[in-house]
Amino acid sequence: MSEADVTVPRGTELPGHGSTFGAMLEEFNAAARLLDLEPGIWKVLTHPKRQIVVSCPVEMDNGDVEVFTGYRVQYNISLGPAKGGIRYHPAVTLDEVTALAAWMTWKCAVAQVPFGGGKGGVACDPTRLSRRELELLTRRYIAEIVDAIGPDKDVPAPDVNTNDQVMAWVMDTYSMHVGATTTAVVTGKPLQLGGSAGRREATGRGVSLVTREALKYAGIDIAGARVAIQGFGNVGSVSASLLRQMGARIVAVTDWKGGVGDDRGLDIDAMIEYARQYKTIDGFPAGEPLTNAALFALDVDVLLPAAIENQITARNARDVRARVIIEGANGPTTPDAHRLLHERGVFVVPDILANAGGVTASYFEWVQNRHGYFWSEDEVNARLEIKMLAAFDTVLKTALRYRVDLRTAAYVVAIDRVATVTRMRGMYA
Ligand code: NAD
Repeated sequence: MSEADVTVPRGTELPGHGSTFGAMLEEFNAAARLLDLEPGIWKVLTHPKRQIVVSCPVEMDNGDVEVFTGYRVQYNISLGPAKGGIRYHPAVTLDEVTALAAWMTWKCAVAQVPFGGGKGGVACDPTRLSRRELELLTRRYIAEIVDAIGPDKDVPAPDVNTNDQVMAWVMDTYSMHVGATTTAVVTGKPLQLGGSAGRREATGRGVSLVTREALKYAGIDIAGARVAIQGFGNVGSVSASLLRQMGARIVAVTDWKGGVGDDRGLDIDAMIEYARQYKTIDGFPAGEPLTNAALFALDVDVLLPAAIENQITARNARDVRARVIIEGANGPTTPDAHRLLHERGVFVVPDILANAGGVTASYFEWVQNRHGYFWSEDEVNARLEIKMLAAFDTVLKTALRYRVDLRTAAYVVAIDRVATVTRMRGMYA
């Protein structure tokens, strides 16, 4: 029996090795111990409030019927409606969706937006679906969970392999069911359909702001700071542009196919154009070819994983030479890798803080939809900066107070906020 097993309340022991929810629990338990959380609240916060599993039959283009399994998990709604994206991927499981819904709970609490945590997913390979099949699948999935979602209940958003068009179908399907156009049921919509100015860039903007603050704390001048980025999609490319505007030098970028490095600094605008055309930055003509493995071992000031989960593991954590890691992606560092990095003094800004700009702008979109009044992009950006800096400041102060790493501190902040309202609200019936 591990130490974790004997010091957590019964019923909150870690699931088996390889479980994403288990990784979340490991992080949670460390912070809950520091807070001396009472066993009852500990149990409440380590159990999902509601897990929904649905079967979604779709008539495919060739006339065959396929049945896809869909999930929606509402992990916790103490602070407000559940909030979290919808993921389309063959590897989607209930374990993964539950972990992602829990992370959304803590992220919303850290960012101080009045939402709980949710997440959805459908196990499917969207690259093999036609546009018509994707629309039918989306509409059937939403129809299956329609009673569980809504502006005051649960507000989905885009995640891996879903985009603003999918959100438009979500909004339309829900609206047809309730008989009224209801834009606030989902965020990440197209601008013409109630989306918010600045939402598309918000995660990368938040990432660049916390990078600036982290460098300030670490005593590294952002002007000329050397940055390596994994992933050049929404988060990676926007972060690259904004960090470069702040004076940093982006010296390496990789994606699913390969990458490129140039110590003098890469031309980010040209790379964005190249990626738009070729769907990868591999083969970008300026700079030297670079692999993902080489990127993680570069001697840089900032390493920014902005692709997928489990990229920095116990296997490559010792190779990392960056002084600061900013987790743009969700779950890019495994708990054992994080321990190794922390022991070596690497300053890691965790995902639930670093990429909270996305959900913060989603909150702004929901507020604008409910008011029926829209803000300018400058207003969205200014409000986003205020919230990101406040979150960074609170987490940093908590880390210094408890003498812990920023990830544990972010959990301490989040758990404390959710636990406080859970105690105030009490156990219903
Ligand atoms: P995206 O699909 O736009 O881009 C993903 C990038 O990662 C692409 O460049 C892709 O080539 C690269 N990639 C994929 N698999 C890879 C691999 N095996 N090795 C190296 N690179 C790989 O996605 P995104 O919206 O930029 O999201 C990136 C991460 O940030 C995800 O973890 C996502 O959950 C997280 N995130 C995104 C947002 C948001 O608002 N977009 C908000 C919070 C968190």
